[in-house]
Amino acid sequence: MIGKIQAEINNQYKIFELMKTSLFLKQVSKKVLTSFKDLLYPPLCLHCEISIKNHYLHLCDECHSLLELIDPTERCPLCFSADYSAERLSCSHCHFQDPLFNHFAAAFDHMGPAATIVRKLKYANQPYLAKGIAAFMALQLLQMNWPLPDFIVPVPLSFSHWLDRGYNQTFLIAQSLSEILSRPVADIITRRSGDYSQAGLKRVDRLKLDSGSFKLKKNASVADKNILLIDDVMTTGRTLRCCGEVLLEACPQSIYAMAVCRAV
Ligand SMILES: [Zn+2]
Ligand SMILES: [Zn+2]
Repeated sequence: MIGKIQAEINNQYKIFELMKTSLFLKQVSKKVLTSFKDLLYPPLCLHCEISIKNHYLHLCDECHSLLELIDPTERCPLCFSADYSAERLSCSHCHFQDPLFNHFAAAFDHMGPAATIVRKLKYANQPYLAKGIAAFMALQLLQMNWPLPDFIVPVPLSFSHWLDRGYNQTFLIAQSLSEILSRPVADIITRRSGDYSQAGLKRVDRLKLDSGSFKLKKNASVADKNILLIDDVMTTGRTLRCCGEVLLEACPQSIYAMAVCRAV
């Protein structure tokens, strides 16, 4: 009997050794393939397109150094406008309209490498960029001492745009943020199909966008919860506002909103 068990252990050990060897070979061949690919197509900085050594960062050192989070103490807490001084509680624009969110923030101004990364995520089929973007958003959230949300809600993409792109970039950012903060994603807003891409709209048309373009899903259950609503780029703020209005129907306790970039 003992001999049989010993034989089984030896057998398992051999299988384990074989697996280890094949895993090692796989890792080595992957490294060789990557080096070979790098030799043929050297990785380029996403922003300035010079050749870079560490392709996991996707940016050269100089562009990487330009990714500085906005200092929240210099911005209006309701719209993150730079037209703000600490003596007033909000900027002159927010002073005349009802605040919809408890706070709004962005990680970056929409310029330089930050704008490039968001553009590549949206239009160049590079969904893996969502992870790095989410890390910066998490840092900004911690820097502002915002409460950890009960749910992270992404701004939705219309079905036709989702078919076109293959993914909703904001949902991917929400998923990565969810992993970092250990808080669930609640994909509870839908966007009417056939809704225009905001990138192609003029400022005046963006402002015409109404909350009828957005709807709360039937199973949405966020009453008395703290919500973090997220978007990629905040231009006029109209999309976030429409989503905020729709979310209020679900009676959350608070809504904090954050975009990756705020239009300058
Ligand atoms: Zn660069
Ligand atoms: Zn403001």
